[in-house]
Amino acid sequence: MGGDIPESRAGAEADILSGFPAGIPIYHPSDPKFHELRLLFNLASTNTAHPLAVVRPRDEQELATAVKFCASAGVPMTIRAGGHDLQMRNARSDAVMIDMRELDTVRVVEDDGTQRRHAVIGGGSLIRHVWRTLEAHGLTTPGGWCISVGYAGWAAGGGYGLLGSYYGAGADQILGARVVTPRGEIVDTDDDPELLWALRGAGLGNFGVVLELRVKVYPQPRVLAGLLVFPFAEARQVLGGLEDMYDQGIPSALAAEASTRDFGPAVPAVVVFFHWILDGTEQNAAEGQEYLAKYRALGTVVADTVSQTTTLAFCEVMDTTTPYNTSFYFESVSVSGLSDELIDAIAASPAPEGAYIVIHHAHGKMLANNDDDDDDGGDDNTATAYCLRDRHYVLGLLACRDHPGFTSEEGTARIQNWAEALNREIRDRRKLALGHCYWSFTKNEDCDVVAIYGEEGVARLRALKNKYNPGNAFPGCYPVL
Ligand SMILES: Cc1cc2nc3c(=O)[nH]c(=O)nc-3n(C[C@H](O)[C@H](O)[C@H](O)COP(=O)(O)OP(=O)(O)OC[C@H]3O[C@@H](n4cnc5c(N)ncnc54)[C@H](O)[C@@H]3O)c2cc1C
Repeated sequence: MGGDIPESRAGAEADILSGFPAGIPIYHPSDPKFHELRLLFNLASTNTAHPLAVVRPRDEQELATAVKFCASAGVPMTIRAGGHDLQMRNARSDAVMIDMRELDTVRVVEDDGTQRRHAVIGGGSLIRHVWRTLEAHGLTTPGGWCISVGYAGWAAGGGYGLLGSYYGAGADQILGARVVTPRGEIVDTDDDPELLWALRGAGLGNFGVVLELRVKVYPQPRVLAGLLVFPFAEARQVLGGLEDMYDQGIPSALAAEASTRDFGPAVPAVVVFFHWILDGTEQNAAEGQEYLAKYRALGTVVADTVSQTTTLAFCEVMDTTTPYNTSFYFESVSVSGLSDELIDAIAASPAPEGAYIVIHHAHGKMLANNDDDDDDGGDDNTATAYCLRDRHYVLGLLACRDHPGFTSEEGTARIQNWAEALNREIRDRRKLALGHCYWSFTKNEDCDVVAIYGEEGVARLRALKNKYNPGNAFPGCYPVL
């Protein structure tokens, strides 16, 4: 899989890595396991980039030693945990891949002298592992929609998901971290609050590798969750109805996000993901039912899976629809609302078979980190580098290039063109895009670093990068500073 590695490359790779410290697991292209380890979620990424080698540290010392060796030998590195980067920034042909998957412990820890607890999450842990471990303690914490995504990459990039409106973004959950810098030092954010601020939204390799994160946890709630599927012909009505509901202000217990996609064998549909957090009171349960009735009334419901469950159980079902082992193309744009014009653009460009639009909506606590009854210093939104606190939607336009309907070159171009054309229609022609976007979703050239982090934020991030990583040891990482 992924094509042959040119012989000239194999020789160069052997030279560069000849002094690699003994005892740390490293897989060279000649090793049969190399080909399995370098596989990424997006097969387009696997097929495009052939890492010099895959390094798989088993503990923090191995990680620190490997990173220090590569940085001082001038060998570029990429970081790989869940392998889900949407824009192929997790592998490069000129770089060693630091594979974090062995560093995947999840622990629940009692804070000293208090009854409170937090979780310590390894830099290679997947959301699925985090949620399953916390569930065993009756706890949870926000995570993304896709449970095979790496937790650190999700949270340190911002972190949208079903629990965000109630508890805050992924970045808001980070209480502390330990980071391996390119010099091989292990820095704790307790010793550098500026690093803590930066990791909350811009921590994807610019300052080093996140060894572990300390994050907030909450009693695990029951939820009322499931899919409401409407015919695509009613897209205008359903998306317009969602927007009206958001305009009136929906409670933070509700995360009603949407997607347009083929549902079943190539039947285009609008899918609303209904997710209501039950807080145990009768009033909240009744309100949840009221909102469910409102959402069901958005159009003609052709499928309805809403029931009482947990977020993890819901996402495990959703996972069965995730396009694994597929090569795909992804575009993203953020907008302030589902205006009539935007809905017209979407309705005029139905997602072809094998394509989706995912619509994340930021409301409730996603827009404010000023809770703040905890003592993490986060009494306003300046506690996080992530600062997209205006009401907005993040649109992801995903085209599966390996979909059975699009295996020919012409078919591949057609499905990719759909995503490109809709993105350009929204951004350039209709001028509906916000200046900022969600970098984890978006290709670098569509990201405006100042619009996302602000001028002062960019200056602080650059100063910190200069302190910890002046040689840009991880050239594929983002934000690009
Ligand atoms: C199917 C799918 C669904 C998604 N759903 C959501 C969602 O609901 N909400 C949302 O907010 N995002 C979502 N994302 C985006 C996802 O959160 C980001 O792409 C995230 O960075 C992926 O992390 P990973 O470890 O899985 O990926 P990888 O490809 O392994 O890592 C991506 C990048 O993150 C950085 N990184 C990862 N681990 C570390 C670490 N330990 N230390 C330093 N840097 C690190 C590196 O720069 C790395 O290149 C989704 C992506 C996919 C493919």
